[in-house]
Amino acid sequence: MSLDNTSHPDRPEPELVPSRYALKVGEIDVMVVSDGVLSLPGAMLGHNVDPAVRAAWLVDMFLPPDVLEWALNVVVVRSGGRTILIDAGMGAEFPDLPRAGRTVQRLEAAGIDLASVTDVVLTHMHMDHVGGLLVDGVRDRLRPDLRIHVAAAETKFWESPDFSRVSMPPGFPDALRRTAKRFLHEYQSQLRTFDEKHEVAPGVLVTRTSGHTPGHSVVRLASGGDRLTFAGDAVFQVGFEHPDWYNGFEHDPEEAARVRVRLLRELAANRESLVATHLSFPPVCHVAVDGDVFRCVPGPWEY
Ligand SMILES: [Zn+2]
Repeated sequence: MSLDNTSHPDRPEPELVPSRYALKVGEIDVMVVSDGVLSLPGAMLGHNVDPAVRAAWLVDMFLPPDVLEWALNVVVVRSGGRTILIDAGMGAEFPDLPRAGRTVQRLEAAGIDLASVTDVVLTHMHMDHVGGLLVDGVRDRLRPDLRIHVAAAETKFWESPDFSRVSMPPGFPDALRRTAKRFLHEYQSQLRTFDEKHEVAPGVLVTRTSGHTPGHSVVRLASGGDRLTFAGDAVFQVGFEHPDWYNGFEHDPEEAARVRVRLLRELAANRESLVATHLSFPPVCHVAVDGDVFRCVPGPWEY
């Protein structure tokens, strides 16, 4: 066992912490894989909030008052003979975020060959969700008949994206524009767009929510009475306690908050499991109602 947790392309060694978590939803196999962590300014938590209130929340979470350590997760789903990758992590698109971008390496460590992936579902086209597909050599290792499912509203949005309502650190809007444009260029022929919803495989339904981006979508899994929703960027850690805080990456923050509250209410009512991109690893919980807001109740470790 190595205690060295850095990657060596020519000398791959197992990581001390494999950063993957597997569970079952009825007949559907689900594996959550951490792409790593993004360190972002604390203001990203909620740009419509008094900075002192924001800093106090971070301190209450035993975090530094000015830095948001943002987990980044992807999911692999197997159903009906299909292997579906939901989002692809950061890749190497933004070198200032070196602790993210490990999806491909960690999929391999989990025994998931890129050539076995039949479908990719994109919750949206921000670079922390598509960047892994743009890493050198990845495209050549994917199947030529790979299908990439994304909302038509999302591909249309990135033809001429509106950043007037976001609140991002300098450099991010340009990097996001560039990455989305490159993704559309490289994968155009493999895109399978849908308007509102699409069943990717038995019990695997991608559904457009809008809000975070116009084509933002969530993935609903259902099998044998079990249910799980992968919420993408509709729900963040702070969103349980403060669903009305506007995250800096939301292109329509009011709508994003409405989507978040509606989804959290629904998941609390039907008691299904929630997984989301930026919840701390393992990002699996149930949603409880707590007065006017919500609580994230972690599930028991099942393996
Ligand atoms: Zn994201």
